[in-house]
Order: sequence, then C-alpha cells, then structure tokens
Amino acid sequence: MGAAVIAGAVVLLLLGAAAPAFADDPPTLPPRAVPVPRGIAATPSGGSYEQLISYANDSARDLGAIQQEARDVAAERNETLAQISTLAALTQKPSAVRDRLEREALRLSATTKIPSASTVSPATREAADEMRTLRVELKQQYVALQADAVALAPYAVIVSPNGAWTTPALGELTQGFGRTTYQGEPARVYDGVYYAHFHEGIDIGADIYSPVVAAAPGRVVWVGHLPDGAMVVLIAHIGGLVSLYAHLDDRIAPPRVAAGDEVQQGQIIAAIGMTGMTTGPHLHFAVWLNGELIDPLSLLAP
Ligand SMILES: [Zn+2]
Repeated sequence: MGAAVIAGAVVLLLLGAAAPAFADDPPTLPPRAVPVPRGIAATPSGGSYEQLISYANDSARDLGAIQQEARDVAAERNETLAQISTLAALTQKPSAVRDRLEREALRLSATTKIPSASTVSPATREAADEMRTLRVELKQQYVALQADAVALAPYAVIVSPNGAWTTPALGELTQGFGRTTYQGEPARVYDGVYYAHFHEGIDIGADIYSPVVAAAPGRVVWVGHLPDGAMVVLIAHIGGLVSLYAHLDDRIAPPRVAAGDEVQQGQIIAAIGMTGMTTGPHLHFAVWLNGELIDPLSLLAP
C-alpha cells in the first residue's frame, strides 16, 4: 500500500505538472520590480496664466513618462507570457524523461515492495524536482502578472491610444487660430513671425450652459479662474499635449471635474459660460504641444 501511495504521488506530481493548476499554498515570492507610474506634482495655488500653462505642460510631460513606464510594463508582461507559454509547452511535451518516469511509476505501483529511498531512482527524483521547480516558477509568473494588472488598471484611461480629438463643444467656429484683426487679442511672436493680434486658440460660439467635453482622454491638472475672471479647465494628455477650455460657466453649471481627475474622451467636464472677457457665450479652446501653441483644428476630426 505504501508503495502504491508513493507511486501514486509520483504519478500525480507528473500529471499535475503537465497542467499548471496551482492548488498548493503560494511559495514565498521574491520581491519583483513592477514599475509604478508616477503621479503628478501638486497643483499650484494661484500664479500667473503663464505659470499655469507651464505647470500644465510639465504635467503633460509627466504623463508621457507614465505612458513610457506603462509601455515598459506591457513589454515585460508580453515577455512573461512568452516564458509561461514556453514553460507550459515544456511541462506538456512528451519526452524520454517523462516516458521513463511513467514506466517507473507503473513499475512501482505493480510491486508490493516496501518503499525505501532506493526504490525511487535518482533520475526520477531529479525529474520530479525539475517539475516542481517549473511549477513554482509558473506560479510566480502568474502572481507577478496579476500584480502588473493591478498596478496598471488606474492608468487604462490615459494610456489609451489617441486618435482624432473630439470637438469640445457643439457650435459655430467664430474665430480661428492665429492672426486676427480682432483688437482684443494681444500681440505675439509665433514661429518667428510678429503678429499685432494673435488668437491663441479657437472660439466656438454655443448656447449658454451647453456641454463642454474633454477633447481627448487625459488628466485634469487645474480648474479655476484666471486673473481676468475666466473659469478654465486645463487637461494634460499623453504625447506632451495640453488642452485649455475657457469662459466656462461657474455659477449654474460649474465644472464637473477637479484637478487629478482622469477623463475620457467626450466626457462632459463643464458648461458654456461667459466668465472673463467675452462678448457672448462661447468656448475658447487652446492646445499646446510640448509647450508650444498649436492650431487645435489640426487635431480635431474633420
Ligand atoms: Zn478665444
């Protein structure tokens, strides 16, 4: 009976190794370096418009770093999956060693001899040890993968691929980006050219209180009033992009987001208003790429 039990244990060990089912208590795992995406620096309290924009651009750069870290984790995960697949194939592959082990197990189960250390051949013990090691490694890989998934989950939004941006408000384009004859816009040098009046974004005239949505997935980095009274939301996006939504309402339908929030593309973040210097309800929408203003229309779907 003792021999049959031992033989059965050997067979179970072998068959158990073939299918990676882990009923054992988890082994003590060595510490594993899972890249933890960095957070974003604390929101500044106040400051000039330039300081805010600079802060937002820094945040976009941080998001870029997070994206890179997430890519590294994904690459590591793919590598781990490949290793698991290799290990699984190894444990399932019919081999001379395995055939010999099965014959050994059958021989043991057919005998009534009292088992002793000598009834299990060194080859059997060696192969069994190898199988056990493989199982432990497989288990460790699975546990590590689970840890990766947990660490990455909160960043699913910001690492989603960026396609065309969503128009942030439904309405009429009342002023484009760049050179303008509108006297209210300040002078600016852009791309080495001086403009007496330069519009930093686009204006979309829309009904008061109609929704304003995030143009792309990202992280809100600032919500508040500019010195001129305009209520704004600033969002950092992967790829070094920052979007600004200005003249938002701050009384009936104030912004629905706060600094630190992650937003989806198309998510309602605020409502059209008339805060700041404006002659009518509209959204002023501006975009920076790596700290430089760009024409938002270049990102919006045609
Ligand atoms: Zn404007």
